[in-house]
Amino acid sequence: MTALQRYLDFNATCPSVEASISAWNEAVRQAAGNASSIHWAGRSARRMLDDARDEFAAYIRVDSADVVFTSGGTESNNMAIHGWLADKAPGRIVASAIEHPSVLKPLERYALNGWEVVLIPPGEDGVVCADAFIDALSDDTRLACLMAANNETGAVQAVADVGSVCKARNIPLLVDAVQLLGKTPLDISGWQPDFVSFSAHKIGGPKGVGALVLDRTRALQPLTCGGGQERGRRPGTENVPGVAGFAAALGVLDFSQAEPVRDGFEARLLERVAGAHIFSRDAHRLPNTSMFSLPDIDGETLLMQLDLAGFAVASGSACSSGLRSVSHVLMAMGCSEEIARNSVRVSFGPGNTLDDADALLGELATIRERLLAMAGAGSFPGVDQ
Ligand code: PLP
Repeated sequence: MTALQRYLDFNATCPSVEASISAWNEAVRQAAGNASSIHWAGRSARRMLDDARDEFAAYIRVDSADVVFTSGGTESNNMAIHGWLADKAPGRIVASAIEHPSVLKPLERYALNGWEVVLIPPGEDGVVCADAFIDALSDDTRLACLMAANNETGAVQAVADVGSVCKARNIPLLVDAVQLLGKTPLDISGWQPDFVSFSAHKIGGPKGVGALVLDRTRALQPLTCGGGQERGRRPGTENVPGVAGFAAALGVLDFSQAEPVRDGFEARLLERVAGAHIFSRDAHRLPNTSMFSLPDIDGETLLMQLDLAGFAVASGSACSSGLRSVSHVLMAMGCSEEIARNSVRVSFGPGNTLDDADALLGELATIRERLLAMAGAGSFPGVDQ
């Protein structure tokens, strides 16, 4: 018998919404030309591209001319970092220690090349203290990076507090808003950022599509050379169906619907499993995200067992789970390696119900009993199935 499949990994990716699939399909059929060609077929593709840009810009309340479409959050972060720093003399870069690898890995390169990269750890609640971040800013700081919300714990960061100081001191700020988009209200002007990264697939748009929103006074060196597309900022023939699908996905899903499901799940988990710990529970969090650890059970093993039972969840960061590395986010929060290894992330979507949460709890208890019995620990009295 095939197990009922329940998808609970929306922070890794959100399955495409119908509106996005239709818009993508329509653009593939209608926009057959190259958006740079001046004939009728090119103009039709160009119109779709311009419309998508206008819709996206209106949705996030920025100027259309400030939007560069990219292949996703990874490219957007790399574009901001390398594009901005390429022609700068070495200096300091200040970033949170819980940034996504698409920010931390590029910064490693600068550290190897004589730049001073200062990483600010969060508190135990997963939130980076704005004052600690601000204290690390120096006159030679060339770039500051603070994500809007963390992909693992869901903790929302104090971007506006950091942004106002960066603006006053003329320090460019990169905000990775990949996880925040669509999950909580977005106030870009309140952040006062210079660069903001987005990804379409986290909100039910196509995979491999994203955007970098930038302050036009900050000139970026393009990462690739060869064409004048996207005002010369991102050469290469534009992915018109992709951006049409991105624009069509905006605002379709209401992730606040996942909050009662997440909260119900967590309350019951704490009731039923002695020693369970939920990360960032007291912080302002994304409404759908729950990262927790269960005593004595390896998160990766739990994930594989849950997969066999039809549940799609993540252990640590989905992006790094294949590498079997311990979550850098939890380690930065001061967790022991053991607790970090025992962590699992569940990220609910708007369609999930308390029935999904209950089924997951039941399965967690069953698996845990089984694993502990196999390990010779006997039955687990704290679990109430
Ligand atoms: N930034 C954050 C916070 C993310 O969660 C992710 C994806 O998991 C990315 C960036 C990368 O986005 P993409 O998958 O579009 O490259």
